[in-house]
Amino acid sequence: MSTLRLGGALVDRVAEQSLPVPLGLLTDDAAFLSRRVAQLPGGFLDQESMTFRFSSHSWVLVVDGLTVLIDPCTGNGRKGRGPYFDDLEVPFLERLAEAGAPADTVDIVFCTHLHHDHCGWNTTQVDGTWVPTFPNATYLFVDQEYRRWDTANPDEHPNDFNPSTFDECVRPIVDAGLAKVISTPYVVSPSLTVEPAPGHTVGHTMVRLDSDGVLAYFSGDAFHHPVQLTRPELHLPGCDDLATAIATRQSLVRRALDEGAFLFPAHFPAPHYGHLADDGEEVYFVPGGAPNADDPRAATGVQNLE
Ligand SMILES: [Zn+2]
Repeated sequence: MSTLRLGGALVDRVAEQSLPVPLGLLTDDAAFLSRRVAQLPGGFLDQESMTFRFSSHSWVLVVDGLTVLIDPCTGNGRKGRGPYFDDLEVPFLERLAEAGAPADTVDIVFCTHLHHDHCGWNTTQVDGTWVPTFPNATYLFVDQEYRRWDTANPDEHPNDFNPSTFDECVRPIVDAGLAKVISTPYVVSPSLTVEPAPGHTVGHTMVRLDSDGVLAYFSGDAFHHPVQLTRPELHLPGCDDLATAIATRQSLVRRALDEGAFLFPAHFPAPHYGHLADDGEEVYFVPGGAPNADDPRAATGVQNLE
């Protein structure tokens, strides 16, 4: 994906990996899928295998003089994360540099939540010790999410499927003095605000971009697939609080529609982002639509949603 321009912001995607997930984990409603999913790009549904591509990627924003990294994936050399995620050897940092953001230039690292696939590159292993990957960054952690995973509170939040993530990916940041624990809403810069989007995890959040009239939500795992836009009760395993997640999805759908905002989820397959439309009967997903940074239309700051 080439660099996109959203108002005054430049946006790049940095990929870690993409893996097949059975769509049946969400829904096998054939009529619904043929109406709203079959016409989307192939990654949203492989009709042969009935899988979709679960893309693990980070979003990099350059805006307001800051380089901001959102949701830094799982990372290399992890153990206990399960199939596809253990023992990765991915040139993620090289890809980040190719996107114009070498590790030492990142100013802000933000994790929408603290599942392992959203905070892994916070740290890298050096001589057997996990150390901060981005030495000049401030790492923002949302207070509620921080407490939910803090291993100093094991009785409060037992943790079966996200082992060692806090101690490997958060604690070293705190020990290095690079962590800032925030409450929401939190203004990162004039164009960026961290807002609550709870449910998938209790302290799950998102980043709202508002730049020169162009709006976008970097929505983490509020949605894993467009089927959840109209069926907010559908969810992948690992949801902390389904009732709250449903309310978050309903609220975000309304806002994104009303505002004409883009959605930049953490796991959608190519083109990885889009906006929402409503044909009077149902909300649906319209992939892509933002101008490339070198597109002359981008220089005008015109939002390209039509
Ligand atoms: Zn995730």
